[in-house]
Amino acid sequence: MYRSLVLCMALALPMLTHAEGYITRLLNHPVPGGVAVVGLGTNAGPPPRVTYDGTPVMVLKDSDGEYIAVVGLDVQKTRPGPAHVQVGGPQGKRALGFNVASREYPAQHIRLKNKKQVNPDPEQLARIEREYKQQIAAYSQFREDIPSNISLDRPVEGGRLSSRFGLRRFFNGEERNPHSGLDFAVPAGTPVKAPADGIVTLVGDLFFNGKTVFLDHGQGLVTMYCHLSAIDVQEGQVVSRGQVIARVGSTGRATGPHLHWNVSLNNARVDPAIFINAYKP
Ligand SMILES: [Zn+2]
Repeated sequence: MYRSLVLCMALALPMLTHAEGYITRLLNHPVPGGVAVVGLGTNAGPPPRVTYDGTPVMVLKDSDGEYIAVVGLDVQKTRPGPAHVQVGGPQGKRALGFNVASREYPAQHIRLKNKKQVNPDPEQLARIEREYKQQIAAYSQFREDIPSNISLDRPVEGGRLSSRFGLRRFFNGEERNPHSGLDFAVPAGTPVKAPADGIVTLVGDLFFNGKTVFLDHGQGLVTMYCHLSAIDVQEGQVVSRGQVIARVGSTGRATGPHLHWNVSLNNARVDPAIFINAYKP
């Protein structure tokens, strides 16, 4: 009876209500730039395969034993309103609906003395394009391993959150991409620690991001650290939660020393504050 009810509801793209476990309570903020946690209505068998927009998404068991899909909602591509994931199974695919609420992000105006960082020349544009592709490849990786922890540690100790995620950015009056991460105001040289176990998938010195490290934590959860002054790890290295991976700096397009931290799920940059229990709607 329960099963057939779930099936019928699934066909009508319902808003599923379910007992909410720990991960759901922590992460479910379904707004552009947020995370949607979708209950899959089952706790039996192997984890179901779930995709969003054709991209594989994280599937975990929540503390109440139910399988959940943890879906990153890109800040630029996601529109408020009904959305759905595709769940694969022996009976074929079914859609499960959820609703995306709206969220307004404030504007931020930044003055840069280096005009090339606002309007790069053609050679720099070619470099930016190349580096963009490298980074998208790193964000798009999907390993089956379950992350060691979903509630992430802060990557630096202390420091106020200086620039929040999602700020609509104007450099010297010209609008550019919104702020894709969270900034921690900490002095140059501050150690940066892995917030969960991971594999180093990209190390580079990039035009905008300066010295940069990418960590892959499994199930499409990827974190990025940039404007670093020094990097202590290499590509392919396995790192443990709490291990120092780099030092804070101000390389690339930065107005002073700080850590810029991105958190990505299914190749969607989401608000890192969600993962450190510091989300403010
Ligand atoms: Zn930043």
